Amino acid sequence: MNCIYCESERVVKNGRKKLKTRQIVQSYLCNECGRRFNERSGTPMARLRTPGSQVEMALRVRGEGLGIRATARVLGKSPSSITTWEKRLSNQLGKWSPKAPEGGEITIEGDELYTRVGENLPPEKSEGWTISFMERESRYWLEAKAGIKDRRLFEQGVKTAWEWGEPSQWMRWFTDGERRYGKELWKLASIYLPGKMTTDAYPYKKVWREGVEVAMKIKGSQGKPRVEWVFREHPFTAISPSSEVHANHLEALNSALRRRGTAYRRRQNHYAKELEGLQRALNVQRLLHNWFRPHGSLGKNTTPAMAMGFIDRPVEIAEILTCRGFCHFTP
Ligand SMILES: [Zn+2]
Repeated sequence: MNCIYCESERVVKNGRKKLKTRQIVQSYLCNECGRRFNERSGTPMARLRTPGSQVEMALRVRGEGLGIRATARVLGKSPSSITTWEKRLSNQLGKWSPKAPEGGEITIEGDELYTRVGENLPPEKSEGWTISFMERESRYWLEAKAGIKDRRLFEQGVKTAWEWGEPSQWMRWFTDGERRYGKELWKLASIYLPGKMTTDAYPYKKVWREGVEVAMKIKGSQGKPRVEWVFREHPFTAISPSSEVHANHLEALNSALRRRGTAYRRRQNHYAKELEGLQRALNVQRLLHNWFRPHGSLGKNTTPAMAMGFIDRPVEIAEILTCRGFCHFTP
């Protein structure tokens, strides 16, 4: 263990203290800067009076779809404690969001999901829209953003997803029939190519930059699924077979989210009361999906973060909660 203040390795054990819950917490003394801290200092577990195992249990069952009140009753805690722990987990998201590894080709699926937030408003006024992006092969869930379905939501969501990759990475973007994904991407990933000098006064054409392919699947038009490439592709970019243009894996994740996330369950009274709570629930589900929960189709005991090459084992919830600084690592 390094000192949490000065990063020095000259740290020695310095007594143990017993919490009211009879849990024992190890204290440390730094011989470099002379300050004391304990194993929880500076982490989201600091100053929690509940044993870590109980916090972990609460977050585990929440992640499997038990409501806040039900979780509180099962563990004999107050609903506000459960919410506090969820906030702490959700706040760790930034530390567990590495960029895509350099060089590889990635396929990003994008789709939307809808739920109610607070009052029952018509969909266009509701803050319950969620747009998410997933990397197809690894099932890594790289972004999920909730809010009113307007230009800003698409702009921010697409920008974050775009910045997840390298500026020159080969990327395929496949979405549902929503055109705003393509429009926002076009602002980020288009370039001008010199065209043939024809009678046109303007000798340039605007295309996707090399390696970017953007297509969408328009569902159920006259019984046949239709696939459409958005804007003009770069002449050197390969175009995928139309059977690969879909967001099926993300749609499967969305139905899992309806099962595991109480705020996304239909026709029940578990909907989020405020946007902040919905975003928190999403962040928690995303952390657990990427790092903690092995995903069946990836092979035995493999999480999406492992499939991305970010880490070589599933991560415990306690570990997500207690890490300091940048937490993920490449094996
Ligand atoms: Zn120190």
